[in-house]
Amino acid sequence: MRRTLDGMQSTVTPTHCPYCALQCGMNLTPAPGGTVRVSERADFPVNRGALCGKGRTAPAVLDPGVRLTSPLVRSPETGALVPAGWDGALDRIAEGLGRTRTGYGADAVGVFGGGGLTNEKAYALGKFARVVLGTSQIDYNGRFCMSSAAAAGIRAFGLDRGLPFPLEDIPRTGCVILVGSNPAETMPPALRYFAELKENGGTLIVVDPRRTKTAEQADLHLAPRPGTDLALALGLLHLVVAEGRTDEAYIRERTTGWEETRAAAMAHWPEYVERITGVPVPLLRETARLFCEPEAAMVLTARGPEQQAKGTDTVGAWINLCLATGRAGRPLSGYGCLTGQGNGQGGREHGQKADQLPGYRKLTDPAARRHVAGVWGVDPDALPGPGRSAYELLDALGTDIRSLLLMGSNPVVSAPRAAHVEERIRSLDFLAVCDVVLSETAALADVVLPVTQWAEETGTTTNLEGRVLLRRRALPAPEGVRSDLEVLHELAARLGGGPSPEKRFPTDPEEVFEELRRASAGGPADYSGISYRRLAEENGVFWPCPAPEPEPTPVAPAPAPVAADSAVHPGTPRLFLDRFATEDGRARFAPVAHRANAEEPDDDYPVLLTTGRVVAQYQSGAQTRRVDELNAAAPGPFVELHPRLAERLGAAEGDPLAVVSRRGRAVAPARITTAIRPDTVFMPFHWAGEGRANTLTHPALDPTSRMPEFKVCAVRVETVRS
Ligand code: SF4
Repeated sequence: MRRTLDGMQSTVTPTHCPYCALQCGMNLTPAPGGTVRVSERADFPVNRGALCGKGRTAPAVLDPGVRLTSPLVRSPETGALVPAGWDGALDRIAEGLGRTRTGYGADAVGVFGGGGLTNEKAYALGKFARVVLGTSQIDYNGRFCMSSAAAAGIRAFGLDRGLPFPLEDIPRTGCVILVGSNPAETMPPALRYFAELKENGGTLIVVDPRRTKTAEQADLHLAPRPGTDLALALGLLHLVVAEGRTDEAYIRERTTGWEETRAAAMAHWPEYVERITGVPVPLLRETARLFCEPEAAMVLTARGPEQQAKGTDTVGAWINLCLATGRAGRPLSGYGCLTGQGNGQGGREHGQKADQLPGYRKLTDPAARRHVAGVWGVDPDALPGPGRSAYELLDALGTDIRSLLLMGSNPVVSAPRAAHVEERIRSLDFLAVCDVVLSETAALADVVLPVTQWAEETGTTTNLEGRVLLRRRALPAPEGVRSDLEVLHELAARLGGGPSPEKRFPTDPEEVFEELRRASAGGPADYSGISYRRLAEENGVFWPCPAPEPEPTPVAPAPAPVAADSAVHPGTPRLFLDRFATEDGRARFAPVAHRANAEEPDDDYPVLLTTGRVVAQYQSGAQTRRVDELNAAAPGPFVELHPRLAERLGAAEGDPLAVVSRRGRAVAPARITTAIRPDTVFMPFHWAGEGRANTLTHPALDPTSRMPEFKVCAVRVETVRS
């Protein structure tokens, strides 16, 4: 089981953290015991050497003692997962998926990916689903991350890239409104940018129902009732119009649709907005003033406003505020989304999303189908159409979808209405999971394949700024572990994907990236001008980065011309400065109106629940819950509640509380604090078992992004008597 370092370089390997979308740079050096040591990498501009505890302790999950090192196959005799050889395990997956395809049709086979997969893996998985399995039923957990911001960005700007500017612009703007984002817990090194903003005289405004560690550092904290961020943005736009703070020349020259949007905002009087949100009118006025007075300003959103059944319109309302005040597509101004997952940005660009082809192309676009089918060597008509979104796919397991291949995701913990999703997963005819650890979802599988992780493989990710990065292999994988690319290669050979499946599913990540470049060429997320060599030399390249136009073919044969340096596209750190990515180059206002949450409090469920993260755990906790240092810092779930609510319940600090929604019940100890509204409780969602927060959450979906309403539902809270 022990890995050998033979043949690996003993010097420093510069690479990136496996966790969040900041993709902090770090150096790895071989350490005794066949693992690596993390050290500061000051040359990477995003985190400038800083790392949070998750990044510093990431090598702990490389330890064979906590990760999988052998395929596991469910024994027909005992029902337990038992170690197996690779060939037998792969045969069993091919047989399981193939039997479903033969018996029920290709769409009865589902594929579920992850926002942590490298670009190469996400690309290969999307291609595998459509070319080898022939199924339309593929989506990924990134749907649960930033899909509402993506949908709103495409609607307004014609393009979705989390941040349309680099993080380094933040300290130089005049004001940032941070909506439903808590980088102090989710990506601590990013907090420096906001501290520098304040040092430079700028203003930080935080909108969050909780007084988080980030909110504590703000100049102004607005604590709206959960699920009312849309009304808040409308109220601010109303004030901006009423106080004559709009930028009429900008609206005229760079936007369309203002009149309807203005009319919608004027229906949201500040006093009405105060009643909906609980944010006092004077605070609204002060926010509008602070946002409009400086020459430049930004709005940044995260999961708070996005993970709602009206998330697209909520983000759209904040974009409207930016557009009305001329704060988009101008230097040091704009709207951006702080993407959460490690490759949440790249993962949504290259084809594991239900409606997408590589290069952020639309699966319904005939030209896009022709281009990508040409790269894949298949008939465009053979490509399936769009499939179900993530929650809808999970909800169809065991009925329309009979078998599932799952890669890098743990929906038993991370999906909304998780008990129902777990029950759906258990009802599958066949489940195969590729993961580095035996997650709660992997534990339900028929076959589990142990795969390589960040420090053991090379590949690219795209961080929240749209900066494509090279993660480098620093040590060999332990014996018994293979890469996801090898898995897809082997399954393609077994399931057949037309002639020569081996060639179509290369196992070398650079070879996959070269194909991805061609597939993305000419698409919105054009990577064709990016190479591994450039990524290694340039510390990342911002997309779009098209390849230089090919030289005209000479009349007489001549050596292929070498592109001069001047022909190399520099990448695009800042988008929209000249025009937006719409047909007419103008940004589009979207008239939106406040609407209620999918579930509002009533006599039976009188309290609002909101969920989120803590600094020492990451997403479903599958990896970080296996790290002693992180567990010591964040050992388990809790219910955060206001002293007034605690008093009503007769609950003291640490008392076990049951939080009950229409979907189930979760139990965790009380954490009493005035940092939360009295009408709201908060639970982190990193844990399984009786403290699983997603047992409670609501699966109502946004009509455009298909994002579930993770951020707000109605619950009742009860003390648990022993
Ligand atoms: Fe890793 Fe994110 Fe922490 Fe940076 S902030 S070290 S990328 S988890």
